[in-house]
Amino acid sequence: MNSADLTARIGSTPLLRICRIWPADSTVQIYAKAEWANPGGSVKDRAAWRIVRDAFERGLLGKGQTLVDATSGNTGIAYAMLGAALSFPVRLYLPANASHERKRILQIYGAEVVPTDPLEGSDGAIRAVRKALQEEKGSVFYADQYGNPMNPRAHYETTAEEIWRQTDGRVTHFVAGLGTSGTFCGTTRRLKELNPAVQCLSFEPDSPFHGLEGMKHMATAIVPGIYDERLADRKMECSTEEAHATCRRAAREEGLLLGISAGAALATAVRLACELEEVGKSAVIVTIFPDGADRYLSDSFWQESEKSHIPNPSAQTLLVLSAEHEAAIRAHGEKTYPHEACGALLGKAQKNRKEVCATLAVANAFGERGDLAEFAVSARESQANRYLIPPEEILRIEKEARRLGLDVIGFYHSHPDHPARPSAYDQEHAWPWLSYVIVRVAKGRSEDLASFVLSDDRSVFAPEEVKK
Ligand code: PMP
Repeated sequence: MNSADLTARIGSTPLLRICRIWPADSTVQIYAKAEWANPGGSVKDRAAWRIVRDAFERGLLGKGQTLVDATSGNTGIAYAMLGAALSFPVRLYLPANASHERKRILQIYGAEVVPTDPLEGSDGAIRAVRKALQEEKGSVFYADQYGNPMNPRAHYETTAEEIWRQTDGRVTHFVAGLGTSGTFCGTTRRLKELNPAVQCLSFEPDSPFHGLEGMKHMATAIVPGIYDERLADRKMECSTEEAHATCRRAAREEGLLLGISAGAALATAVRLACELEEVGKSAVIVTIFPDGADRYLSDSFWQESEKSHIPNPSAQTLLVLSAEHEAAIRAHGEKTYPHEACGALLGKAQKNRKEVCATLAVANAFGERGDLAEFAVSARESQANRYLIPPEEILRIEKEARRLGLDVIGFYHSHPDHPARPSAYDQEHAWPWLSYVIVRVAKGRSEDLASFVLSDDRSVFAPEEVKK
């Protein structure tokens, strides 16, 4: 390929709209730059090409001279690709535990790879390259992606401009993870010039020992020379587990094969979106997907069917319950004591807020035995398996909801002489999304009242906020 054709394909990546993990009808929109569309498969093509171009222009990377740098993988791949296309040798210092796929790609491009101590991560690679350079000064070009101003410059000149253009200037929040910090610092500087009101949020791994390849835990790492922490309006964190869980969800729900730091970016953006939506804001959040899943396919986390760590909008709901409706639920619980009372909650629902507009006591056809589990079964079956409860009761609930122009948004029941907490049985049998209000009735008097929502993956029966 003509080298100009190759370098012309760097940047101008698609801006993807997230519309299932975060719903499209929200006042908050999430977009992400699909950086795997670069010819080297990652965001680092931008920085590497800007660094190489600058070195050519300044005569630092002359004929036959070797480019040397420390890299956790993606920058190395970008250098190796450019070295092959533009005919300069490349030598890379890389932690020995970098993913198998990355090392293979580097070898296939023909780069020389020097493995460094896996326990020292990217800092170990930096120390190794510095040590080696002391011995061979002048004969090589040290690209120094952690200290080279051309790294953030690439994002200042390209990434930020693309985001601005692709959102028609509507971007309100920019979220990016920190590795060298080039992406965050360069993009932020330009976006703030274009609109000083744009909020720029950086995020880091939540611990020094993390699996977010390409990212740095700044508090415990060698801080890159190009990093300017004052640029961030806010600093956030992301755990490796949250990133993994989000990668799995993105594959199944969005059809997107994300790299791990891209999963972290999406999880962080969703958390921010939840916060903004909760306070009634409109926003256009843009984040960066630094690379795709192809470099992590041999990782085992794809198979794990562990709990969902991504904030689950349905598990963060707010239930608005007026004093009047609360009193009706309490009175019902006291009346049927020592048996449980149960009923339906009718109301209006938005994505993470439900408002009770009417309670409908259900004749205790669900079981007069004081057996709480009985209610849970019945409530569930009212959705799925109607023969277990009198069909006329279901019809009555649905008819009443229709008559009032409301939805069935949940159920309430009492726990006679038991805490206002769902039992394991409740968790097993309840339905995601619906609100389950439980009131404890002790010796005939109603006490605490709480509401719960089952997460979509059924792993957590999370308490939800109840507000008057
Ligand atoms: N994610 C991945 C997969 C990366 O390779 C990098 C680059 N080290 C980053 C995130 C962070 O980007 P930056 O170096 O621009 O901060």
